[in-house]
Amino acid sequence: MIVMKFGGTSIGDAAAIRRTISIISKKMRSKPVIVLSACANVTNLLHQTVEYTEQGDKEKSEEIITSLRDRHKNIVDELALGIAAKRPTPDTTDINNIIDKYCNSLWTLSKAHLGGQIPDADKAYMLSMGEYLSSNIVCFMMNALGIKTSLVDARHFMITTPDYMCATANTPEVAKRANSIIEKAFKIADVVITQGFVGVTMEGDPTIMGRGSSDYSASLLGMVLDADRIEIWTDVDGICTADPSIVPEAKGIGKLSYEEAAELARFGAKVLHPLSIEPAATKNIPLYVLNSMNPEAEGTVVLGGSCIFDGVKSISYNENIRVINIYSPKMINTTGFLTKIFSAFEKHGVSVDMISTSEASVSVTVDASASIDPVTAELKRYGNITVDRDKSQVSIIGKNIIGVKGAVAAVFDAVSDSKIYMMSQGSSFLNLSIVVDRPEMVSVIRKLHKTFFENGD
Ligand code: ADP
Ligand code: ASP
Ligand code: MG
Repeated sequence: MIVMKFGGTSIGDAAAIRRTISIISKKMRSKPVIVLSACANVTNLLHQTVEYTEQGDKEKSEEIITSLRDRHKNIVDELALGIAAKRPTPDTTDINNIIDKYCNSLWTLSKAHLGGQIPDADKAYMLSMGEYLSSNIVCFMMNALGIKTSLVDARHFMITTPDYMCATANTPEVAKRANSIIEKAFKIADVVITQGFVGVTMEGDPTIMGRGSSDYSASLLGMVLDADRIEIWTDVDGICTADPSIVPEAKGIGKLSYEEAAELARFGAKVLHPLSIEPAATKNIPLYVLNSMNPEAEGTVVLGGSCIFDGVKSISYNENIRVINIYSPKMINTTGFLTKIFSAFEKHGVSVDMISTSEASVSVTVDASASIDPVTAELKRYGNITVDRDKSQVSIIGKNIIGVKGAVAAVFDAVSDSKIYMMSQGSSFLNLSIVVDRPEMVSVIRKLHKTFFENGD
């Protein structure tokens, strides 16, 4: 069995869906389990619908829902036309009814909560609509093409914690359910499709697992099904030496260790969700990152680390972060100071990324979207607090980079014109991160890329 996940751009329109179906049809002998995201940008539009609903803007909410209905129906029409050239025209009544059903329930919920706070479970349900629409369309079209395909609702097996917007899987419960459900589906089909991103609590309430989490759904499913491989199909030639949208010269990396890929994802590389590596690594399942626009490209394989060489593999970033500095002479020679500081972050649910300490001060970075006012108010009890806004974190990632001669010096050389607000070395020697002014981020990334990957020219 193999698990193949297709992201938004791989199913963004009729042409992309056709390419994706052709990729799947070449893997029929491997029992493919397909995990789908929403079509490109649909989850963003659903977020906007949720916001307009809470703001009481009925017109805007309705406008988006109508556009979603039209877009999905247009995809169906275009796909059906393509099929009609070679086979009998498929009857699209059923799939159009399904699209109407999901869009109507979105509209019903939007009207019911207009101008008020939407309960988390309803919000999760609304935000997961994109995955239900895309998976139904792809399943319908594959069957219309004569590929026996079964759709399994991920909420029949993806049991999660009740953190509705950012849930994590309850792995033993997922394992208990997924195997029999998927095996049963293969009894009547050659391909099984399910939704990424969505989950359900033990009590049956809908959840989602956070933005970009279809990668995590796929890896987890691969793990519980003991898949031979997990394939993450996206819009770039694998994991690259930097984000190709920032560094056009970035190249695909052939091989990475689980540890390196996890560190890259944790430190901002959007190509993989931060939780997506661990499940694959637990069972030592190779995880491939491949390009659905260029299926012939080799892509990246992420696997156990023994065959991985030391050195810098990639540059990642978080574009909009804040640095919180806590200065307190009381810290010198006292114990328990750091515990108090980190409990304040924990208490207010703010997650800390980078940490750097000196004898009398601690600096941490947090994502700019975090609500830090309650934390800084509490931290004032312990010392003088300053917050640096509009900063970016840039990291070089790779196995044993600190041990690689000249790597640290090369970083300083590359950023010698920029002010560095903070620097931190990951405890596992896998990353070296710096914080710079946000307007400088792109040039810092490009300079680092030149230094490490463009042979010094
Ligand atoms: P999908 O919709 O397929 O999940 P995403 O947009 O979530 O795709 O992730 C793919 C994007 O990740 C790429 O288009 C690229 O801009 C970005 N990216 C960031 N860092 C990297 C990197 N190191 N290698 C490849 N892509 C990266
Ligand atoms: N559709 C969801 C999102 O846009 C999940 C995903 O793409 O992985 O965040
Ligand atoms: Mg993604």
